[in-house]
Amino acid sequence: MTLRRRMHRFQYQGRELFCEQVPVSRIAHKIGTPFYLYSMGTFLDHFEKLKKAFAPANPLICFSMKANSSLTILKALAAKGAGLDIVSGGELFRAQRVGADPQKIVYASVGKTETEIEEAIRSRILMFNVESIPELEAINAAACRLKTIQKVAIRLNPDVTPTTHDYITTGAKQNKFGLDARTATQLFMESYRYPFLRFAGVHIHIGSQITNAKPFIAAIKRALTFIDNVRFGGNPVEFLNIGGGLGIIYSKEKPQTAKDFADKILPLFKDYDLKKSLKLVLEPGRFIAGNSGMLVTKVLGVKHSDAKSFVIVDAGMNDLIRPAFYGAYHDILSVRKKNKKSSGLRADVVGPICESSDFLGKDRLLAAVETGDLLAVMSCGAYGFVMSSNYNSRPRVPEIVVKGGRFFVAKKRETRMDLIRGEKIVAEVL
Ligand SMILES: *Cc1c(COP(=O)(O)O)cnc(C)c1O
Repeated sequence: MTLRRRMHRFQYQGRELFCEQVPVSRIAHKIGTPFYLYSMGTFLDHFEKLKKAFAPANPLICFSMKANSSLTILKALAAKGAGLDIVSGGELFRAQRVGADPQKIVYASVGKTETEIEEAIRSRILMFNVESIPELEAINAAACRLKTIQKVAIRLNPDVTPTTHDYITTGAKQNKFGLDARTATQLFMESYRYPFLRFAGVHIHIGSQITNAKPFIAAIKRALTFIDNVRFGGNPVEFLNIGGGLGIIYSKEKPQTAKDFADKILPLFKDYDLKKSLKLVLEPGRFIAGNSGMLVTKVLGVKHSDAKSFVIVDAGMNDLIRPAFYGAYHDILSVRKKNKKSSGLRADVVGPICESSDFLGKDRLLAAVETGDLLAVMSCGAYGFVMSSNYNSRPRVPEIVVKGGRFFVAKKRETRMDLIRGEKIVAEVL
């Protein structure tokens, strides 16, 4: 049996929780709470593991930056050779700010505006992942205006349903994503109608937090059959983008490792020349970012009712929405383990927001917590800060990165003035 452990650099040394070589409590005392804390080493480890596992295919690995779009993180991954998977003009802007190689950028999204399309063509991104016919027409028209030929990949809906949360499956017929095989085939056959596009690739992305290889295998097989068909019809297809979606450990999941995954996926390509005629693209987000970050929060108080106990903390659903949004589970650890063998407390860990769905954890067994204790909400590096909001007029929290024995502020805590930026009292309506 292979031992599968959550691979990250958040570990206890004695009773203290550390991020790499820095005690988390030290950062909390300096920065205040709540804050996101990232381990640079863990981000890079995960990227390198995937790169190594897939080395025989030498794929383009585009980090899906909607999972975590911190400029520091993006810059570090790009420096290691990562490309970027973007889903909006705002993400393109961030990619440009870190000087990412545009020829390593792929752009997916069900709804791209004319402006976003033009900006992306102008900046010479590698490829659009196209999700509808109107989009194809819009990209063709924009490329015509800009007098260029743009590469596109057609996002194929492979009609597989992985077992994951309903909100994060994207590859079933009922989902809004991609084009069905019949429509997609037709498009390749009629590619002459789009003279400013090159139909260079096929894209699939079947969902997120998928912990076994089976649905990926099924989807890739369908994509390869599709590619064989359109190639037979005279369309060279240079790229197969197999998307992201690799699951991670939040609690007791047993996801495939990068190596397990590559060992199952790569044999599917035995009849293809991945070095030459068919280039592989991967779009991992959560796999790289998920276990590379945590949210640090402070206990404001403990409250007991007849039915339940509540640990009230200073981070809420506006800071981390995953529990409220997906019913997601995040481990909650003490930043400093208790001295005595104190009896634990079973409680819901809740935020200060005026919503019943404002919880970070339900029915958790915690060491005897007291006001002022620090808690670490684990596995928050993906879809954490990026989904945070100002709901309840709460300034968004800082993002701190650790490398080795030092920590740095990658994004400052928002101020009260940030909350009202761009706003004015409209005198005319008073
Ligand atoms: C969100 C997304 C990804 C990344 O998904 P993860 O589950 O975070 O790996 C990759 N590709 C596309 C098209 C996406 O929308």
